[in-house]
Amino acid sequence: MAQWLNYKELKAEISFIDVLEHYGVEMKIKGEQATCPCPLPSHDGDSTSPSFSANLDRNIFQCFGCGAKGNILDFLCLMGDKNPKDAKQFHQVAVMAKRKFLYKPQREAPASNKQKASGKAKVVVNPPLDFELQGLDPNHPHFDELGLKPETIKHFGLGYCKRGLMAGRIAIPLHDANGQLIGYAGKLVDESKVSDDNPLYLLPARRERKNVVYDFQPELFLYHGHAITKPVCYVIVTQGFMLIWRLWQEGKRDVVSVIGDGLSDEQASLISYLICVKHGF
Ligand SMILES: [Zn+2]
Repeated sequence: MAQWLNYKELKAEISFIDVLEHYGVEMKIKGEQATCPCPLPSHDGDSTSPSFSANLDRNIFQCFGCGAKGNILDFLCLMGDKNPKDAKQFHQVAVMAKRKFLYKPQREAPASNKQKASGKAKVVVNPPLDFELQGLDPNHPHFDELGLKPETIKHFGLGYCKRGLMAGRIAIPLHDANGQLIGYAGKLVDESKVSDDNPLYLLPARRERKNVVYDFQPELFLYHGHAITKPVCYVIVTQGFMLIWRLWQEGKRDVVSVIGDGLSDEQASLISYLICVKHGF
């Protein structure tokens, strides 16, 4: 599953505009040139004059104030206080840059014929949630029954929910690869109440609003994948929730889980984004 990173391709594919926007830099774009005040933390001169320029065609930058220059990956190193000349640091920045700037979660699914026929042309998949469940109880006795420690409960953001659709369940926040909250799963506390209409694990439902269908597709993300923020040599892939909580609690930090059956192509590619091994590192 190791994936080789092609720096040359990466340098060409990442958009300097995306990167500058990511850092909240206001730039002026003229032709192939973007100019702005130097955003580098190491810049020591005037930080209001537009001394920094990036060539959007060649993906290189230069600052006339502090003299810094280089390619887009050098820029990302310097923004993160990393040394672009240090091969290991450079590699780590490159891996994260690939994930951050080239991986785009698949949000829009093509409308099926059935949807077209019903006039609902737009389907949005796993959209970020615009609210968070409040008042979740991380001290509910059910966590003891599950053998989960406070540290684990906190790390996964778990809590017992008293109200609403999730009432009587442990709410489990779900995040996409970019760390956006996309919904909650809910584990029923009283397992004697499990029935066809009341599953042990409740997943976000497909919903419609103003002619747009919001669909939840668990096969498009990895549970806990967003929490792996450094490139790893290997990752443990589990299924469901209990096992990953227990493994994490046992000290296995590079764990992800698939919700549902099997591993989708999207999940396989997400795993390859987490893993990046190069000889010597
Ligand atoms: Zn500068």
